[in-house]
Amino acid sequence: ATTLTVGALGACSAERAGGEEEASGGSPEDTLVGIAMPTRSLERWNNDGAHLDELLQDAGYETSLQYADNQVDEQITQLQNMINEGADILVIASIDGTALAPVLQDAAENDITVIAYDRLINESENVDYYATFDNELVGTLQGEFIVEELGLEDGEEGPFTLEPFAGSPDDNNARFFFKGAWDVLSPYVEEGVLEVPSGKAPASVDEWTSIGIQGWESSRAQSEMENRLNSFYEGNEKVDVVLSPNDSLALGIQQALEGAGYEPGGDWPLITGQDADEANVKNMLEDKQAMTVWKDTRTLGDQVATMIDQIVAGEEVEVNDTETYDNGVKVVPSYLLEPQVVTKDEIEDVLVGSGFYEASDLGL
Ligand code: BGC
Repeated sequence: ATTLTVGALGACSAERAGGEEEASGGSPEDTLVGIAMPTRSLERWNNDGAHLDELLQDAGYETSLQYADNQVDEQITQLQNMINEGADILVIASIDGTALAPVLQDAAENDITVIAYDRLINESENVDYYATFDNELVGTLQGEFIVEELGLEDGEEGPFTLEPFAGSPDDNNARFFFKGAWDVLSPYVEEGVLEVPSGKAPASVDEWTSIGIQGWESSRAQSEMENRLNSFYEGNEKVDVVLSPNDSLALGIQQALEGAGYEPGGDWPLITGQDADEANVKNMLEDKQAMTVWKDTRTLGDQVATMIDQIVAGEEVEVNDTETYDNGVKVVPSYLLEPQVVTKDEIEDVLVGSGFYEASDLGL
């Protein structure tokens, strides 16, 4: 792994609420970490926030954990409050990755170190580090899973019907997810082995936002899927595969399919996902979802806590990627973790075995 040192004591000397200057560098007890999460409406962010908060508190840090209900303005206000309260470090899972430059300018003027969490923050030089899972690999794994399940590499000619979806247009990750999957799938679409009856196949990766689901909302994914089924599937035509970038979209898509009379184990399509959310893992057990790309968010929290310890101790901060994540102003030094495919057969070994879920959570 490459190591870099960026303003080792960037974490110091913020103004505390009481107006006193306090040097914070060096000890967790003197360090306030603000953690800004996007929303409570998705299971993963609740886990992410709770885990990181607990790790840091156990290590002696002061923390302030806030959720913004997917509202950009609310997140900006929360960050502003953290800055005013004298935060030394901000950990931010952004809602709109392009909307934070002004508030981060304020953070920089207060010598606050900023870590982008899971989602990159764009168009700002005041992002010191980025910790995430390899986002493009998430998409590659989804695409390769589809190719393998359909036997396309073994010469299976189909044609199979495919409906592709992409994530929220304001989330920098969503493009990476789509690119990873589409680089694998689009050659088969061009050959006609995969057909997209709705026509909602972007001509190139750059046009991915045309099929993006705002806010990653299940209900929007559901109505989009209902529209596609109602308008483009006539007679006996069935959808064979749905590329869903994550679990919240997959849930909505599954509801639309149920409404249209598709049957698990019968004509139910192959559906991808990401996050191993509880509801989706249960759906995998019922054959309503073929896979999920699991990102053990505990390891992301662990990595960010390590970064924070290194920043506060004035040590080099360990990163393993200094090329991929250009935010439009700079390439942000990043630590990328590896995502992993989980299928129905692996739920018990991987998700329960690792302690991510209790068997009883999943009705096992
Ligand atoms: C995260 C995914 C998540 C999605 C919706 C993305 O930025 O990387 O894990 O499913 O946001 O919250």
